[in-house]
Formats: sequence, C-alpha cells, structure tokens
Amino acid sequence: MARFKSFAMPLRVLCAALFAALLTGAVPARAASCTDVPADAWYAAAVEYMVSNGYILPDANGAFRPDEPATRAEIVDAIWRSEDTDDPVEPASFADLAPGVPHPAVDWAVMRGIINGDDKGYFHGEDFVTRQDFVSMIYRWCGWPAPRRDVNFADSDQIADYATCPAAWCREKGIVNGVGENRFDPLGKVTRAQMAAVLARILEPYGEPLPFTGCVICVDPGHCVTPLAGKGYRDPVSPLSDETKATYTTGTQGKGMTEEKLNLIIGLKLRDRLRELGATVIMTREVSNITINGVQRCELPNRLRADVVVRIHADGNDDRSVHGVCVMTPTGDLLGTPSIKEESVRLGKLMVDAVAARTGAKNRGIMPRYDLTGFNFSEVPTVLIETGFMTNAAEDALLETDAYQNKIVEGMIDSLLQWYGIEQSS
Ligand SMILES: [Zn+2]
Repeated sequence: MARFKSFAMPLRVLCAALFAALLTGAVPARAASCTDVPADAWYAAAVEYMVSNGYILPDANGAFRPDEPATRAEIVDAIWRSEDTDDPVEPASFADLAPGVPHPAVDWAVMRGIINGDDKGYFHGEDFVTRQDFVSMIYRWCGWPAPRRDVNFADSDQIADYATCPAAWCREKGIVNGVGENRFDPLGKVTRAQMAAVLARILEPYGEPLPFTGCVICVDPGHCVTPLAGKGYRDPVSPLSDETKATYTTGTQGKGMTEEKLNLIIGLKLRDRLRELGATVIMTREVSNITINGVQRCELPNRLRADVVVRIHADGNDDRSVHGVCVMTPTGDLLGTPSIKEESVRLGKLMVDAVAARTGAKNRGIMPRYDLTGFNFSEVPTVLIETGFMTNAAEDALLETDAYQNKIVEGMIDSLLQWYGIEQSS
C-alpha cells in the first residue's frame, strides 16, 4: 500500500539530535527522530518508522507527544501521507474548514470514503478519535475487508454497529489488540503512540499475523489446593437444577505428583504455546493454592467472552490396567446454554484424535457428560480432556515427563487450529 516517501525529517531536528549526541556522548536513549520518545518505549519502532518516512510529522521542536490523544485531522493526514498520492481530487467542502486554504489530505480521505462530515457538514478536525472510530477509518481505508469471525471482545455489546466488523477484522489481522481483560474499550481515545503503532502495522506488516491472532481461549487446569477442601463446600450442578456436588475434589494421584499438579503443568504449557502463536489466553488459575469453585471457573470465560474453554484433567481407575486419552463434551437437559453442544462436540472429537495421534495413547473417544458444573454453567463451547490414567503405571510415567506433556499440548494445539479453521503454513 505504501510506497517509499522521501519526506525528509526536518533538518533542524536531525541536527539537534546529532549535536546533543556529540556533546555528551551518552544522551538518554531516544528514538532517533523525536525528542520525547524513549528508545525502549513499546511504540518507539513504530514512531521511528512513521516519522522517518514522513508519514507523521513531529512538532517544530521535535516532540511527538506520544501520550496525547490523536485528532481526526492528524489521523487523516498520516494516512494520506503514507499513501504518497498526488491523484487529482475534488476539494471537499466542510463548514469548519477555512475556504481557500488547501486541505488535500481531507479531500483525499473523503474521496476514498475514509471519512464523512457530520450531518451539518462539519469535519471536526480537532476532535479526538475514539477507538471504534479509528478502526472504522482503518477498515474503510483497507477496502472493507470481510472478517472471518464475529467480534469477540468482552465489551463487544458496547461497540457501535458500524464498528463491529472493523474491530473484528483489525483484531484478527493483529492490527489492534484489546486493552486487558479482553476489552476493546470502544470509546477510549486513541493516543498518538497508538496511532503510529497501528498505522505502522498496516504499512509494514511483519509477515502474516500469528495463527491464533484474535482468538480468545480459556484454559482451566482442573482442581486446586485449598484449605477449604473437605469443609463441605458444594457447587450447583446446573443453573437449571437444585442438585449440588462437592466443590473441592482432589482428583487422582500418580507416582510422582498429584493430578492437580499435572493439570497445572499442562495448562501452563498450553497457555505459553497458545500465546506464542498469538492467542489471547484466559487462565482460571496459574498456581496450585487458590479457592476457585466450579461456577467461578465458568463465570470468568463467560464474562470475558472466551471463544472456547479447555478444561484439563487426568484420569484414575481402580483397574490399573485401564489407560488412554478421552475428551468429555457437554450434553443433556441440565445444560444452561444448549447451543454450545455442537461446537463443543466438534472440538472434542478433533482433540481426542489429535492428542492420541501426537502421543500414541489409546484413543478412548469422546464421552458426553450431563452432570458437570463446568459444562452446565458454560455459555461458550467447552471440552474436558482426560489426558491419561495416572493409576496406570506406564501411562503415569509418561504423563509425568516433559516430552509427553509437550506432545499432549501439541495435540491440543492441532485440534484448536482445526476447530477454528486456521490454515497452518508449516
Ligand atoms: Zn480431575
């Protein structure tokens, strides 16, 4: 989209920076082009790219003002400069632009459909820009591309209709990220640092986005260690039933570790691998000692709008010869959100096959369950993998090794990629 542009950095800025460096030999590290951008700031490379190419002009004194909100005029100007276009454009007329003063960036942005005025014919160039308006401008600039999935931020219902496709597309392309807790913050103001970062990601994409970019996955390592265990705490089995079951159960036990520990180890490995591949990961727990009950394990991914929840367990059996991997899936009349069943079963089948293939474990298939709190309270698709039997000496020995745990995790990754329909390039 961008062609190289030879806008020179204002000479005065360059000279001042060089002179300061020569004088002291050890000025505080700054991005080369601006006086107020620390070299180690998360946006430093983006600002450097935008400024050195002349797409964003620093102030006369060389300041970038990274933390200040960006205005509509500034964003339009940066997009226009990055296009390096001199196509003739019909002058746009806005009531708040001085007549006779050329404004080629605005004219071009109107012609390209990136901006409109308001219904009274005002451009509002000095207005700050909300995150939802920013992604809408970006989206129109990029040609109204179709997102692959629905928007999946925790506060999606607060995003204006016109901005839902833009937010979804920008997210899955890795152009915008959430602001924590999987929120988009649609009415938050875009800072000049964010403007530079987002535009730089579009203009100089660093290859294809990572495979799980835009995916929100919750990992729930089963059980926990808590002094509340054995004190009679109970969870409802379903939002549709008065039946309860014990909240804190210890799970099974292998030769060298408890199930709780194994689940946590595998859960953390899955978390790290998913993040490495670009996913937003929500963990129900990252330590052993925690008091989280079965309903709370669902509330978190429900509230943060995870796409899917993967619950991690290991099996035990009085018959110590039993071994193999299986995946439980939700079913039955107690399911609070029956619509999750189909997608859960689809993932369950993919996961048990993929983990069996990676590990060589016996494939015990999927096992539909109607009685699990973690299924019945879930509002998003969910599966529960039983990674193997800790009561089987041979399988337990494998389960407790790093290499076998990694194979389990890679199998889960394979199945999640397939479930999302993500093509793997390698
Ligand atoms: Zn368990």
